[in-house]
Parts: sequence; C-alpha cells; structure tokens
Amino acid sequence: MLSVYTRHSNDCPQKDDINWKRCRCPKWINGTLDGQFIRKTASTGCWEKAEDLRRDWEEAASPKKLNPVTIEEAVEAYLGWWGHSKRSSTDGTNWPYPR
Ligand SMILES: [Zn+2]
Repeated sequence: MLSVYTRHSNDCPQKDDINWKRCRCPKWINGTLDGQFIRKTASTGCWEKAEDLRRDWEEAASPKKLNPVTIEEAVEAYLGWWGHSKRSSTDGTNWPYPR
C-alpha cells in the first residue's frame, strides 16, 4: 500500500500540508510495497502523475503475490479436492486430463 505526498519547498504557502495537491512542489511516494518500506520521488510536481506512478508500482509488485502456485501445489490441491469430494468424474469435463 503506497501513498503520494508532497515535499514542499520552504517558500510554498502550503508547506505544512503534505497532502496538498495543487502546487508544483515535488511529489513523493512512500509506503510498503511487497513487504518493503519504500520512499521515492515521483520526479514530478503533478499529483495525478504521481498517482499514476504509484498505481504502476503497485501493479508491478502484485503479480509476484498472485503467481507463487507451482505445478506441484496445483496438483496437490487438485488431488486434495478429488480425495475429499464425493462427486463423480462425470462432473469434470476434462477429467482426468488438465487443460
Ligand atoms: Zn508546495
């Protein structure tokens, strides 16, 4: 989970509000990504661009969490389901062959 904040310059009238979006001060992104705390500049003064970047980073990190199922685990889950199910093999169109 990441969030965008503003690092105001000293002469910015909104310098006390890190969530102020409508000045041209550099926007930064911090938070936890993939279990690691990060704090990085978004290299822009535009809040919307920083938000786009934040989404990119979150999306880039998420496939690693969705992908860890190995073939072995999939087979185990499949067999486990089969072992606990009373349903007949006619339920699975492709049984016993994986697609
Ligand atoms: Zn500012």
